[in-house]
Amino acid sequence: MRLSHYLLATLREDPKEAEVVSHRLMLRAGMIRQLASGIYDLLPTGTRVLRRVEQIVREEMNRAGALEVILPVVQPAELWQESGRWDKFGPELLRLKDRHGRDFVLGPTHEEVIVDLVRRDVSSYRQLPLNLYQIHTKFRDEVRPRFGLMRGREFVMKDAYSFHTDDASLDETYQRMYDAYGRIFDRCGLDWRAVEADTGAIGGSASHEFMVLADSGEDEILFCTTCSYAANVERAEFRREASDEVPPAAEMPEQVATPGQKAIEDVAAYLHLEPRRLIKSLVFETPDGLVMGCVRGDRDIEPARLRAALGTAWLELADPERVTDVFGVEPGYLGPVRKPEAVRLVCDPDAMRMHDAATGANATEAHLLHVEPTRDFTPDLIAEIAGARKGDGCPRCSGVLDSARGIEVGHIFRLGSAYAEAMNLRVQDADGKEVTATMGCYGIGIGRTAAAAIEQNHDERGIIWPAPLAPFAVAVVPLDLRNDALCAAAGGLYDALLGAGIDACIDDRNERPGVKLSDIELIGIPIRVVFGRRSFERGVVEITTRRDGETIEAPVDGAVEAVRTLLSSGR
Ligand code: ATP
Ligand code: MG
Repeated sequence: MRLSHYLLATLREDPKEAEVVSHRLMLRAGMIRQLASGIYDLLPTGTRVLRRVEQIVREEMNRAGALEVILPVVQPAELWQESGRWDKFGPELLRLKDRHGRDFVLGPTHEEVIVDLVRRDVSSYRQLPLNLYQIHTKFRDEVRPRFGLMRGREFVMKDAYSFHTDDASLDETYQRMYDAYGRIFDRCGLDWRAVEADTGAIGGSASHEFMVLADSGEDEILFCTTCSYAANVERAEFRREASDEVPPAAEMPEQVATPGQKAIEDVAAYLHLEPRRLIKSLVFETPDGLVMGCVRGDRDIEPARLRAALGTAWLELADPERVTDVFGVEPGYLGPVRKPEAVRLVCDPDAMRMHDAATGANATEAHLLHVEPTRDFTPDLIAEIAGARKGDGCPRCSGVLDSARGIEVGHIFRLGSAYAEAMNLRVQDADGKEVTATMGCYGIGIGRTAAAAIEQNHDERGIIWPAPLAPFAVAVVPLDLRNDALCAAAGGLYDALLGAGIDACIDDRNERPGVKLSDIELIGIPIRVVFGRRSFERGVVEITTRRDGETIEAPVDGAVEAVRTLLSSGR
């Protein structure tokens, strides 16, 4: 590529709107431009990088035995009604009508379409297992699109779906995909970690997220410093310690005034109790009405764990006005004793093991003392809903949990048969019996992976691409365009590199040396070969690696070999 004929589009200034490094550098390096909120143009440099990620993903998917397909972005609403997600998916699903007034959606994910495809063309166990994937555009009307390609509304995803007649076959493919994901993120040069994850709105029995470790990550992960346990905080468990040695209360609950004391710490201080002697109660809205969650006062409720325990599609903290309506008292004075019947109660086991506890009285500016779980209230469900945190004991060994932030670049699910059942995907098994198929699904965000690579690989001068993702492997930079011999030699090296199958570019722009060098650094090309006037007179070029900034000299006619050696050393 001759940069004189290329759209480099680099920016000197930091764009104001970008909060994270990858977004800032993608804009500055001329990779992306925003068209509308969460919707981006990909410029040539951005396109090159995304194609590299795609190619790695494609090779590993093919190697894992998955078959590439291309599915429509525009999907008929009927399929979504059939699966039940037309009503359940919520506002992330962009709905539209055609000229005949028929409903369609822009695909945020493709379970419906793929099940429909497979049910029409697969009828026998002999055609299974089958794993189909595509690398294609998705649309999700995210509440908060941000961070550039990291959380867009329109974005490219690799999504794969596998079909099986039994769990053993699903497990085998799941493991094969898990391994393929590991190879993909290794090949992308990323520092990543697979963690146990919540299954969220997609559903299913088990899942893993692949996290790229970065402080800017939106997810918190907890991992054991001794064993291999690692989980998203949304799902992480922790080792439950023996409960406090508090004797059971002999007396019945006693109501005390706690004027103005709402936060657990304030109530605890006011009552001269440790926060862990209080029961913390929060009320959530769910599709099936209000739910109160209770944990020990020194803990927090993890909403995703509560959602998983209830098996609902979503939940969110209830609106304070709605709570006041139902309880007759403001949030802050709520508790499990004598709560309204209609509100279901879910208690963490540690809260159930407490004795002589204090909690909100469901009365204005008042709390109860001497509360005994079981004696004074009965939960509808006892489930682990307290969130784990750094410093907690590991649930699998005697180690301790540490925490890190991560960017979720991939997610794999054992889906089970929910979609196949709702959409009647049945196949004949070996005994001629009709069985419902079982499924797995597997996603990777292509743009998010590129963004995550920048979060992990940059310095104050710009991007430092891991070689496999770089837009160009090598930049040849003639600094003095008036020197014909120098330009001819640089052009010769550029041709020779291309001839050797090395993806080179030549910066033949009529720009000052400083501009050229800083652009090449900004866009993160791993190796640059500089033709300067003085060194060229001595018959040498200067070869610099972007990552460590080291410069070596090589004779002009040995430059291809020197570059090849650097490339194969992985720098
Ligand atoms: P998140 O929790 O970040 O919203 P998700 O759980 O909704 O992600 P999945 O449905 O599992 O994501 O999608 C698979 C992959 O697609 C994710 O691992 C991520 O890499 C990518 N992805 C999801 N949403 C976006 C988005 N808005 N922009 C860019 N990539 C995305
Ligand atoms: Mg999402």
